[in-house]
Amino acid sequence: LVRLRTRLSRSQNALGKGLLTLLSREHLDEDTWEEIEDTLLTADVGVAPTQELVERLRERVRVLGTRTPEDLRALLREELLTLLGTDLDRAVKTESGLETPAIVMVVGVNGTGKTTTTGKLARVLVADGRSVVLGAADTFRAAAADQLQTWGERVGARTVRGPEGGDPASIAFDAVKEGIAEGADVVLIDTAGRLHTKTGLMDELGKVKRVVEKHAPLDEVLLVLDATTGQNGLVQARVFAEVVDITGIVLTKLDGTAKGGIVVAVQRELGVPVKLIGLGEGADDLAPFEPEAFVDALIG
Ligand code: GDP
Repeated sequence: LVRLRTRLSRSQNALGKGLLTLLSREHLDEDTWEEIEDTLLTADVGVAPTQELVERLRERVRVLGTRTPEDLRALLREELLTLLGTDLDRAVKTESGLETPAIVMVVGVNGTGKTTTTGKLARVLVADGRSVVLGAADTFRAAAADQLQTWGERVGARTVRGPEGGDPASIAFDAVKEGIAEGADVVLIDTAGRLHTKTGLMDELGKVKRVVEKHAPLDEVLLVLDATTGQNGLVQARVFAEVVDITGIVLTKLDGTAKGGIVVAVQRELGVPVKLIGLGEGADDLAPFEPEAFVDALIG
């Protein structure tokens, strides 16, 4: 929690503490409620969730009468948790329950942190005693396969790659085949995220998915979104959701933004839980998304 708090320090100042300070004002007049609303909007919580939250806070504060700091903190904590959802299944599915490995496909726009996330996830799995094969199916970005292989070597996972500019689907196919042959527990497939044409993306990811599913069922499709891109990230999320069935969201770069509220907005948008968060560039900087810890880090 301490680490999360440090890493989220910018979000924390903008969101949680800001809200708590505002709610603690002696007179909660219209201006203050507007400031509360602005704070939430600035943190990218999104318009509808912001309005809902403010309405609930207003009602609860009214019922509360005398406001002690402890009451307000508890109330805000509860409401933020309701907003984030505490009963969603946030576990990344890495057990196939079959003879074949679990297959996890990682998708997202280039630059969001896809390759890094794939590497970090491999590290977590390997540290947990699982054997992992990496599929470098991002053949669009020249350095992506090297980058993934470096991660693989670092964490102890084999990387299957093809020629630069090669066919992503055939690499994914090979990676899954290799995973099966080795009796690996998990195959993680990094994909390319060119967004300039939706049909191009759809064709490519659709093909990767179809080819993989010839061998083994796809257990997870993780969409990686860069938290610092704000509403733009939501637009990306929408496009990807039209192309593949997203089963979980990874929100990266939460360490570098005051816009932690995007967690709420993106879950609403896709109806899919945030499962992992990226808190830095380092190997240990991937954490499961735990609403309680997140809210506690936000409100200090
Ligand atoms: P890809 O094109 O989507 O595969 O993106 P990369 O994995 O190459 O990441 C792009 C950049 O973002 C790299 O410099 C990463 O180190 C950086 N990055 C990835 N995740 C995080 C994160 O959680 N926090 C920060 N601060 N940087 C990150």
